[in-house]
Amino acid sequence: MSESLRLSRRTLLATAGAGTLAATVPGRAAAAGPEQTPPTASETREVDVAIVGAGLTGLTAARQLQRAGRSVHVIEADDRVGGRVWTVDAADGTPVNWGATFVGPKQTRILGLAQELGVTTYRTWNTGKNVQWFNGNRKTYAGTIPAVDIGSLLELNTVMSRLNGLASSLDPAAPWAEPRAATWDKQTFWSWIRANARSGMVHKLLDLACLSLFSVESHEVSFLHVLFYIRSAGSLQDLLNTGQGAQDQQFEGGSQQIPEKMAQELGDAALSLASPVRRVVTDGDRTTVISDGITVVAKRVVIAVAPPMIPRISFEPLLSPLKDQLCQRVPMGSVGKAVAIYDTPFWRAKGLTGQATSDRGPVEITFDISPGSGSPGVMMGFIDGQDQREYQLLSPSERRAAVLEQFTTWFGPEAASPREFLDVNWDALEFHRGCPVAVPQPGAITAYQGALSAPEGALHFACTETATRWSGYMDGAVQAGEVVAAEVAAAL
Ligand SMILES: Cc1cc2nc3c(=O)[nH]c(=O)nc-3n(C[C@H](O)[C@H](O)[C@H](O)COP(=O)(O)OP(=O)(O)OC[C@H]3O[C@@H](n4cnc5c(N)ncnc54)[C@H](O)[C@@H]3O)c2cc1C
Repeated sequence: MSESLRLSRRTLLATAGAGTLAATVPGRAAAAGPEQTPPTASETREVDVAIVGAGLTGLTAARQLQRAGRSVHVIEADDRVGGRVWTVDAADGTPVNWGATFVGPKQTRILGLAQELGVTTYRTWNTGKNVQWFNGNRKTYAGTIPAVDIGSLLELNTVMSRLNGLASSLDPAAPWAEPRAATWDKQTFWSWIRANARSGMVHKLLDLACLSLFSVESHEVSFLHVLFYIRSAGSLQDLLNTGQGAQDQQFEGGSQQIPEKMAQELGDAALSLASPVRRVVTDGDRTTVISDGITVVAKRVVIAVAPPMIPRISFEPLLSPLKDQLCQRVPMGSVGKAVAIYDTPFWRAKGLTGQATSDRGPVEITFDISPGSGSPGVMMGFIDGQDQREYQLLSPSERRAAVLEQFTTWFGPEAASPREFLDVNWDALEFHRGCPVAVPQPGAITAYQGALSAPEGALHFACTETATRWSGYMDGAVQAGEVVAAEVAAAL
């Protein structure tokens, strides 16, 4: 990485102290990805396939195409690979995942890839009781569903079964084709919940589930998309559970090792970092991808960036109106993470899992993300939706105080004095502007149908949002990369 890029990273970090936090610890960027000499802006390469974006989708597509004997070049805006998979080192070297952290037993694509690359997993600490903080009262409970009155519990079970049942009627490759899709797409999750459940506690729990899955409020997402998400994972339980669900395991040493190892395999010559793509120009059977670092001429181009990032690139000829308009109707969620590092995971000795659910922010969900060895103790809080929009306006000391007060209330006085406190704001990051996923607004799915993944001339489009299995997750990104690689291979 060049000195100027190191400086730009420091500048980004410096803004954290000014209240517009990006990440309050140095990224692992210096160690991420293969060492390489940055290309000069005038450098031009000619390959079979240019791939824009070195997230798991882009790297999977590159890997498959390279293995099939095609020449590829991956062009990444950031100075690291991984995109939404980003691990930083805390001051003591403890790896902390700012982005994707958890993996479940049914996510066989990402698990298989990790195994191939020699990255191992360990089970998320899930022994003991969870904490719930509702209406200013602390309770503990076992399992996924908080301690609620029997009437609410029965209604919650009924509503969850109903959601799983409705979701199972969808074809994940064409959710708009279900006869009831238009009706579902006209509603938000908020309005469906209120029309179909009477208990205020059930409303609260499903609103919280929505925040934890999409990092948006339940009134900001199409109900059809919620059903699609459930279908794509299998069931609501698969999405929400820790044990045997999507939060079952974590990668020892951090998730970003996976894209880092993929980049190493790909080779320095096939990857340009710190090269935001600005223009993509198709002229006959050649498409020219122009970035700040390199120009790549290719027969086919894969655009493997998150949907809201696509129209930030200038396309000639223009993207179809349908694709562009759909990209305008799938904003990213608002998400941050706050992490406190302690000498030990002291909550375990108190019989607690380290998982808390709260109806008050800034943190509404926590997890014990200590390394597999159990040392040090690492507590992570998600800050989602409206809480994140408000949290990012606080000063660093206000943010720290707000989070540690919550951790102390939930886990005990030891939580007040971590040896390190860090937080990240995905909304502030230039090539993401929010996370963890793009979230369709009401009406978007049925109005625009498959416009997101439809190829346009020499251009192909893929990201975890185009996946049909575990869409929104690392596993979905791998699937999307595989699908687009096959599409491109067939077109070459
Ligand atoms: C806070 C958070 C928590 C998450 N938790 C989990 C989890 O526990 N488990 C899980 O499985 N998933 C989780 N996810 C989701 C997971 O990270 C994503 O589904 C997956 O990584 C998406 O991969 P992708 O390649 O499709 O997109 P991305 O990772 O977004 O890759 C797109 C790449 O394109 C680059 N790019 C953008 N614009 C340009 C441009 N103009 N030129 C060149 N490059 C560009 C970006 O920098 C990025 O590297 C989480 C994500 C976040 C942010």
